Amino acid sequence: MKYCARCGSEYQDSVQDCADCPGNPLLVSEAEMRARGLPLPHEMDQRIFVRAATAEDPFTAEAFVEVLQEANIPVLVRAGRSGVVDKLTTGNLLPWWEILVPEDLRARAIPLLEHERVQELETTDEAALAAEEEERESEQASAPPPAP
Ligand SMILES: [Zn+2]
Repeated sequence: MKYCARCGSEYQDSVQDCADCPGNPLLVSEAEMRARGLPLPHEMDQRIFVRAATAEDPFTAEAFVEVLQEANIPVLVRAGRSGVVDKLTTGNLLPWWEILVPEDLRARAIPLLEHERVQELETTDEAALAAEEEERESEQASAPPPAP
């Protein structure tokens, strides 16, 4: 058996990558899962994973995973659209990702994710501000000179 280090799904040995996760990460062996401190699917109930955050796009999900992996926090990403219920309503829902961490590490994970989210927002804000500024400048350039 092979496993996805992201979402914890189990696959046949012939499968190379995970179909559920953004970026289709390569599957790893059971030994690799253990080396990374990740639970195997049948062990999942021994370690309770809880939601630390959600991401609305694969880039945010990816950024969150990187932050947690850097902090050595095991992380699972569950694609919100791949649930059994969602299969019935496919096409109408925007994809989103649930970031799951072990319950005992959640308190450590949340500030890291908050920090990452703020950074992302700042980047977006700066880009929006720059675009606004540019717009204002081009408006001024095309406006008639002010009356004396
Ligand atoms: Zn996966």
